[in-house]
Amino acid sequence: LRVKLNDSLLLRQENYINGEWVASSDGATLCVTNPATGEQIATVPSLNVEDVRNAIALAEEAWVLWREYSAKERSVLLRQWFDLIIDHQDDLAMLITTEQGKPLAEARGEVLYAASFIEWFAEEAKRVYGDVIPHSARGKRIMVLRQPIGVTAAITPWNFPAAMITRKCAPALAAGCPMIVKPADQTPLTALALAELASRAGIPKGVFNVVTGEASVIGPELTSNPIIRKLSFTGSTPVGKLLMAQCASTVKKLSLELGGNAPFIVFDDADLDAAVQGAMLSKYRNSGQTCVCANRFLVQAGIYDRFAERLAQEATKLKVGQGTEADVQQGPLIDERALAKVESHISDALGKGASVVVGGARHALGGTFYQPTVLTGVTEDMFVAAEETFGPVAPLIRFDTEAEALAIANNTRSGLAAYLYSRDMARIWRVSEGLEYGIVGVNEGIISTEVAPFGGVKESGLGREGSRYGIDEYLEMKYICLGGI
Ligand code: ADP
Repeated sequence: LRVKLNDSLLLRQENYINGEWVASSDGATLCVTNPATGEQIATVPSLNVEDVRNAIALAEEAWVLWREYSAKERSVLLRQWFDLIIDHQDDLAMLITTEQGKPLAEARGEVLYAASFIEWFAEEAKRVYGDVIPHSARGKRIMVLRQPIGVTAAITPWNFPAAMITRKCAPALAAGCPMIVKPADQTPLTALALAELASRAGIPKGVFNVVTGEASVIGPELTSNPIIRKLSFTGSTPVGKLLMAQCASTVKKLSLELGGNAPFIVFDDADLDAAVQGAMLSKYRNSGQTCVCANRFLVQAGIYDRFAERLAQEATKLKVGQGTEADVQQGPLIDERALAKVESHISDALGKGASVVVGGARHALGGTFYQPTVLTGVTEDMFVAAEETFGPVAPLIRFDTEAEALAIANNTRSGLAAYLYSRDMARIWRVSEGLEYGIVGVNEGIISTEVAPFGGVKESGLGREGSRYGIDEYLEMKYICLGGI
């Protein structure tokens, strides 16, 4: 096997359904490859529609039992799962790096981040309070219960193979809902390792399930099956829109975390060092493959040249290589399609008058490695500014006034994360209020945390994940009117 783990049982090549490890009923499989080497790591089942339907029916049986568990019992089980994830942090990180490519240090960070959602929602499970509302007529009492919505499904992306799953399943399980997770084809092994640990933690059968296979087979069943009452999706905007349309036939509740086009605004009065440091973290983490990565830099004229120079200096220092090698800071892109997108965005920008300050080409390592890149002279009509590049490319747009910056920042149908650097408190307040985004980082490049509500506005999505609000996505309110008192 091409991945070395301390606990080799964490490498699973079957699906986890109703507490059992199973293959596809017709034996079909998918290959999982290492993006840094192109080598095959493992195979996982490619389920057919019947297999998926069966998994959903079993999850419904599990629901009847799981919703009867007390909040405290669910909390204890989630806590045990959290502890096991922490105990196996290194192995999980190795799986992430091997199938996804990010440097091991980042992968370890992701495991902690992923685990933090399970810890948080283990705690929140105990705080799902209802209401008693003062009555409007004598002889009546008005109450509100908050109950689990039912069987849930998640479709998750490859850029955070662990965290995008736990951010969904932790609140679902805490609320009393079973979940069926379909991880991205590129990164199913981390999901299956999480299932192995869920099993060891004593999470009852059918409550957490992982199914793998073709999205075009599994997606339509998860979206059309009436047993599934809620779908949570993180991924691209076109697929999110398709799933939303497909869910209409059964009126499912939806959470969507879709693409962003994050502006990173640097005003003349910014602390230059802090802005450069924040830009490096926000832009080049995970090779630029996160939905909150700065996608376009809006830099005020007075600081533009200095910012460009400093950012280019720092970007040149990044060590690119296989994520398992020591000190590597940037791994490969996930696949050829991702590489082709970066290349087409850059050639479009250069064709329309942008200049390369550093990078701008494939890396000497070959494969899907790409050089950390900084572009200047970028304008709004270029793909790098108008679309999500999802690669290690920092395009710098020059602006003069605050109003102009805000107009450029909001000139998009996306609205996930935005960043701004300034030391003027009034400006910080005005611009933070004016940004049409779900998340704003002020003098800060890293905004993700389990304690805060993560999510977008406009076409970046619906709903919030994490925080005390995250569990609401898996609950329904029931109003009970008690008469005859
Ligand atoms: P990316 O382009 O970054 O791979 P996607 O939105 O295509 O992002 O993928 C995110 C997740 O959505 C993955 O699990 C993928 O398999 C799944 N997916 C892609 N297309 C569909 C579809 N038509 N129906 C259901 N799931 C899909």
